[in-house]
Amino acid sequence: MIKLIKPYISFDEVEKEFREIFESGWFTKGKFVEAFREEIKIYTGAKYSYLATSATTALTVCLKILKIGEGDEVIVSDFSFPATANVVEDVGARPIFADVDKATFNMLPEELEKKITKKTKAVIFVDALGNPSGIHEISEICKKYRIPLIEDAACSIGSSENSVRCGNIADLTCFSFHPRKLLTTGEGGAITTNNPAYAKILDVKLNHGSILVDGKFDFVDVGYNYRLPELQAVMGIKQLKKLDQIVRERNKVKDRYVDLLNPLGFKAQAVSADVLHNIQSLVFVVPDEVDRDNLILKLKKNNVETTLGTYCLSGCTYFKNKYQDIQVNSQYLNAKTLTLPCYDGLDFTFVKEGILRSL
Ligand SMILES: *Cc1c(COP(=O)(O)O)cnc(C)c1O
Repeated sequence: MIKLIKPYISFDEVEKEFREIFESGWFTKGKFVEAFREEIKIYTGAKYSYLATSATTALTVCLKILKIGEGDEVIVSDFSFPATANVVEDVGARPIFADVDKATFNMLPEELEKKITKKTKAVIFVDALGNPSGIHEISEICKKYRIPLIEDAACSIGSSENSVRCGNIADLTCFSFHPRKLLTTGEGGAITTNNPAYAKILDVKLNHGSILVDGKFDFVDVGYNYRLPELQAVMGIKQLKKLDQIVRERNKVKDRYVDLLNPLGFKAQAVSADVLHNIQSLVFVVPDEVDRDNLILKLKKNNVETTLGTYCLSGCTYFKNKYQDIQVNSQYLNAKTLTLPCYDGLDFTFVKEGILRSL
């Protein structure tokens, strides 16, 4: 069976540091966490960086520091993993679903502008499957209306727009290190920002609401413990060093798929000319006449693991029942997108034969 994903970390790479952590007994708030946090900052080019337990907790903290809650609206990209809208719902605000471009899968600027109201307190732009195409236009609109832009970059560590890395574009950026992403710590996440005011509140919120005064903790706010442990940080450090190489290799594999699938009527997720896509997932829109779900089953019989692209949030049962506001492009992509295995060392000839036999 050809697996959909490949982990970019082995035990050998972390053994020495893991042993050191176990021998010292220092499992949290130590030097590896500090080093990983620093390296995320350097890698993305952001002024401030924080680690978290997941992109979900990272996004929640961002909404909290913007004081978003009851009566507020947050406009979200509709083609995403449900966590993007769940966090809005969770803080008591209303997610407003903005439809996406059928080529890039990302939020449409005209859809965003149409949905801004007096209640809009933030925009969550999703880099769909790691692709930040179009974020610049969205950022301009947010600036015009003075609305903070949160980038759900759960999938996009290693991607960039106009040579600026994800993490250094939006007002607040959230990453995920779940095993389904390119860089994994098991579970984990990060927040980056260039805004010193946000950084100051994040420092407090992410430390149980405390500040240090004369060497003593003063608890001045309510806060959280969303800390990434030391062992996890080691995993992150190791993969970050290899990330650019990984992204280059994945782009090469993508090119082979495009050569094979374009003539068959499959369209790869579109990427703007100024964007470097990390290809967190390699996703194609299948031709009209192809039943995507059936194709996934046939590919499985041919020993090639594939899956759907991602979800139409407004079409998820909870949000559909509550808001009845289904976005059509996103609904279309939810039904017609296919994720294919994409990594170096992939037996492409085997996959190619599997695809041709499944059509
Ligand atoms: C994976 C993902 C999340 C959730 O990330 P976790 O780290 O698992 O919380 C959120 N948004 C998007 C777009 C994702 O792909």
